[in-house]
Amino acid sequence: MCLTIPAKVIAIDNPMPDFPVAKITVEDSKGARELKSLWLPELKVGDWVLYAYDTAVRRVSEEDAREILELLEPKKHIDISRLDTGFVEVLKSHTAGTLSRDGIVRLLKTEDPVETETLFAEANTVRQAALKDFFCIHGIVEFSNHCVRECHYCGLRKGAAGVARYRMTPDEIVSTVEDAVRKRGYKLIVLQSGDDFHYTDETLVDIIRRIKKSSKVFIFMSVGERSLECYRKMKAAGASGSLFRFETSNRELYNSVHPGQSYEKRMKLLKGMKELGYYIASGFLVGLPGQTVEDIAEDILMMKEMKVNMASVGPFIPCVSTPLSAHPAGSAELSLKAIAILRLLMPKAKIPVTTALETIESEEGRRLGLSSGANSLMFNLTPERYRGEYRIYPNKYHGNAEVWEKYGLFNEELSYRMLEKKMFEAFEVAK
Ligand code: SF4
Repeated sequence: MCLTIPAKVIAIDNPMPDFPVAKITVEDSKGARELKSLWLPELKVGDWVLYAYDTAVRRVSEEDAREILELLEPKKHIDISRLDTGFVEVLKSHTAGTLSRDGIVRLLKTEDPVETETLFAEANTVRQAALKDFFCIHGIVEFSNHCVRECHYCGLRKGAAGVARYRMTPDEIVSTVEDAVRKRGYKLIVLQSGDDFHYTDETLVDIIRRIKKSSKVFIFMSVGERSLECYRKMKAAGASGSLFRFETSNRELYNSVHPGQSYEKRMKLLKGMKELGYYIASGFLVGLPGQTVEDIAEDILMMKEMKVNMASVGPFIPCVSTPLSAHPAGSAELSLKAIAILRLLMPKAKIPVTTALETIESEEGRRLGLSSGANSLMFNLTPERYRGEYRIYPNKYHGNAEVWEKYGLFNEELSYRMLEKKMFEAFEVAK
């Protein structure tokens, strides 16, 4: 589903009052524009509407419109008169496609608040130009917290003590997705688990087939390091995307926090998924022990080089029962800078505000992420009785989805078609 920035109706021009489509003029922070309007009974000047492309599709109360604006519109005034010319040169180099590794490091390292705000504002401008004012919301079902791996940062690692392990049955998974699609309007859902081989390839394939048969929804699989053959079968069954993060592009760092795993193997699998035609969602962590700003610059460049379709950045959060429990959390500001730079380099990519960022910054993290170049959110659809046990890190933020679910274009076929179109565009860009 999508949510757009609301606009105020300033004129209605409908020569045939009984005709279901009217011509209206609306105004938002970018000025006035003409739109078509679907049949919105008794729409009048002064009302607020949400619109998709050139069509107003839904009336919004003024109170809710202001709440959405508060969430989605950047509002800091930036005094650019005192900006360093070197910084401006680096920042603007993305327009010529020449933002270099050194330039990225310069942007990541700035501690000047005005430069930082300018970076965020530039990313937001690029997002608006490339993607208009659409913000997407997707859902995630965490269907098993069992895992055979021992990632040093993760509260679900095999050896973690005090985790109440659960597995949802295939029936539970299918019905949870069906409810989210039918009752709440979700159009893209991620099915996530630890690396849990209790679910055979055939079980996963069957779950995907059943969902695709009953619901019009895009399915993304986040089931870890399984064989490429398994990914091929899941794709053939109807999976559209794969959420598979590389976590860090620094080979030694990767291997040091993923005992028993190999950087080469992971990257080979990721490449294989791309060749299979998956819509690739990948990303990295900010704040791993020993990670440098230069490493993060390489992470960003790797995302661009791989032409991932969805690029996510999340701060590391320490968790008890892990070898990194005493390591400080990653920086939210550095994560936001990385999001902003990704947007400069990949104008059309889907960039989510990660739950880790929201966990560190709460509701403010969502607003900061969305006004720094991000354009989507992922809401948790895991049944309540399991949700608290999917603890990759503690105090996971489960932000309220109210405004989004109330005003996302979720009952409209238009919403699915818009997503389909955007995914197609993303594939074109990633070719
Ligand atoms: S990060 Fe994923 S693969 Fe690693 S231990 Fe946690 S759930 Fe398992």
